[in-house]
Amino acid sequence: MTYQPGELNLTYDPQRGWFNFVLYSETPKLWGSALNATQQLRNSSRYTQEWIGRLQDTEPTPLHMALVSNNEAPRLWSPCVFDDPESPSAIAGDGCVCLTTFYDPLTWMPVVKQHYRTVSGNIEEWTYWTFSPLSLPEGQVLERLIIDQDAGVMWLRNDRGELHFLPEKTGEGYNVGYGGGGPGKFAAMIEKIVASDGHDVTPDTSQVTANRHLNDWTSSPVSNRTRELSLAQLRTLRTTGTAPA
Ligand SMILES: [Zn+2]
Repeated sequence: MTYQPGELNLTYDPQRGWFNFVLYSETPKLWGSALNATQQLRNSSRYTQEWIGRLQDTEPTPLHMALVSNNEAPRLWSPCVFDDPESPSAIAGDGCVCLTTFYDPLTWMPVVKQHYRTVSGNIEEWTYWTFSPLSLPEGQVLERLIIDQDAGVMWLRNDRGELHFLPEKTGEGYNVGYGGGGPGKFAAMIEKIVASDGHDVTPDTSQVTANRHLNDWTSSPVSNRTRELSLAQLRTLRTTGTAPA
């Protein structure tokens, strides 16, 4: 799996026992290098649980293979040690490095769930790999922007109540709470969302200059917590520099 360090630079590390949930998203290379979002996301949250909860089982497809390395690809077809201790993905009948395939029924994006279990189960972790969306489907509108600091993920909820990753451009991930590139990108994205009344969430903000209230807010510690912001709250934030609860 390719990994490009960004500002969210936690990576999958089987040696760190507390690090038991990782979500990874990347835009397929075949969609153009300008849009290769690479994002390293961590830990479980109510939002990651909502997203994982809607995933559907599926057979491996070429897009699933694009999420894993060539070495790993054969394991897409091997069962988990829990189902077959003799599986090629099993280690000594108890450890496991299986890969299970799913898809997101709302976006049809492929998802690979990676199991890492040491023999005797001292370390047991699951990692989810998927691709970032590039936009909302035609006609859908962002209703809420979600800062999920529990998982280190920015989400959106659309006018149908559906949860999606906030579209992101490669190497230009979002963040909040300090003065830096990630918070700057996030401020520009909020500017774009407000200007389009939630219709435009495409990740390119190179032509967008964020209002200074937005830059001040995203680079301030006050923004550094999990919260949901409605379109109305985003408008107020842009105008006044504060986001009323
Ligand atoms: Zn397994």
